[in-house]
Amino acid sequence: MQTVIRSILGGLALGTLALGVGLATLLAVGWLGFGGNPWFVVAGACLTVTIIGVVSGMAMGGAIRGLSRELEHGDGSRLVSGPRWLRSVLRALNEYQVRHQQGEAAWRTREQDLEIRARVADDGRMQSEAVLEVMDDAVIVCNTLLEIISSNQAAGRLLGFDPATAEGHPIAEIVKDHTLRRIITETLEAGVDVEPRRGELMLGDCSNMGGNACEVVSACAVDRQGRASAVVTVLHDLSREREISQMKSEFVSKASHELRTPLSSMRAYVEMLVDGEARDEDTRQEFYRIIQSETDRLARLVDNMLNISRIEAGIIEVDRDVVDMHDLADRAVQTLEPHAREKSITLHTEIAPVGTMVCGDSDMLQQVIVNLLSNGIKYTPEGGRVTVQVDADTLTRSVHVAVADTGLGIAPHDAEHVFEKFFRVENYKRVAKGTGLGLNLCRHIIETVHQGQIGLESTLGMGSRFWFSVPMGQLPARVAA
Ligand code: ADP
Repeated sequence: MQTVIRSILGGLALGTLALGVGLATLLAVGWLGFGGNPWFVVAGACLTVTIIGVVSGMAMGGAIRGLSRELEHGDGSRLVSGPRWLRSVLRALNEYQVRHQQGEAAWRTREQDLEIRARVADDGRMQSEAVLEVMDDAVIVCNTLLEIISSNQAAGRLLGFDPATAEGHPIAEIVKDHTLRRIITETLEAGVDVEPRRGELMLGDCSNMGGNACEVVSACAVDRQGRASAVVTVLHDLSREREISQMKSEFVSKASHELRTPLSSMRAYVEMLVDGEARDEDTRQEFYRIIQSETDRLARLVDNMLNISRIEAGIIEVDRDVVDMHDLADRAVQTLEPHAREKSITLHTEIAPVGTMVCGDSDMLQQVIVNLLSNGIKYTPEGGRVTVQVDADTLTRSVHVAVADTGLGIAPHDAEHVFEKFFRVENYKRVAKGTGLGLNLCRHIIETVHQGQIGLESTLGMGSRFWFSVPMGQLPARVAA
């Protein structure tokens, strides 16, 4: 713009200069006509041209500077109030300036609008990425060239690729599974007018059931023109759900089997009593005793099942307090002393003099020691020995409790399973009655409720040593006071 003005004003200056030259020539011709000295004529003409040039140059320079200032900083309104001889040019320039300013303002608004849109789109993209990342289901989005444009960590885990580097790569390169690739390709070919494709597929090693069963849903994303712009595929891993439902049905079948055993026994003895098969009082008393013991077993079984499921569901009430494991060990020994005596088993305690306090639920911890001690007595032949040890481990700041017996011991392949629900060593089922839930409950109480550890060392035929450790207790203020 300024260049244009400068060239217009430059032209005007040249015009003025030419006018000056014309005037000077006229003057010279007039002078010569009157017989003057030609050198005076030349000098007079030069002087006239110079004076006119300097004066018009100064005037033009001032006008140019004023115009430039107005164009750069003003709103153009003062342009029309310039020198009279420039007014028509200046008016045109003023209109041009106004149009230019309006165009510039519109352009700025559009630029800001675009910036805002870009920011909103960026936020939207980040939100979508965050949603994808928190999803447990695997998600893969491909463009119409079947290149990956987005995928989440779950997809990476399930299909074995790195989502951070997968973008832009063809799915044929990233996804090894043929069936999944076929589903995605067919979804794109089918286009937008069909229902999402649904199916199930087995990913990974299908031969030994080591693969992952997945539910697949694949559909086309539509652009503004209603055409397919991408293929979105979601994979839902069914393995965990199937595992849980299998565990549930196993639990139900094992629980009903365990419940049926004492119930059948009770029913048989009750029937015998009803039918008058127990003819003498001693036999009747024996039947009553068996029914009572089966009822106790049934009650124990139901209690254990309830406690385990409450702990697993996280709804068990825990009554935490500072507990001295020394006291709990003594009390457990006292409780089980009569049973041990019946089998001529000697009970011992080896208890550290100090540092045996823990913070926990006294009843639950008591139950663990009683379970371990009762197992020690049950699976130790007559004349054996069971020892309860309580140690303070200052290094790990935990209290270590062990119940060691000189009993049957457990083979390594059985030892792996003793803490599982309903597990019982096959050969020992005749040795003692049990529920197969006692050790599982102990593990839940120690690991889940008290954040401790539980374990077993055993040699077949040489005895077992069951142990657990729980963190040392901090004395709460009210106890310390
Ligand atoms: P149970 O009520 O059957 O004793 P537990 O869960 O307490 O259930 O124990 C599971 C199984 O572990 C027992 O049935 C038994 O076979 C084995 N077991 C537990 N303690 C001992 C032990 N001290 N010596 C040998 N075997 C044991």
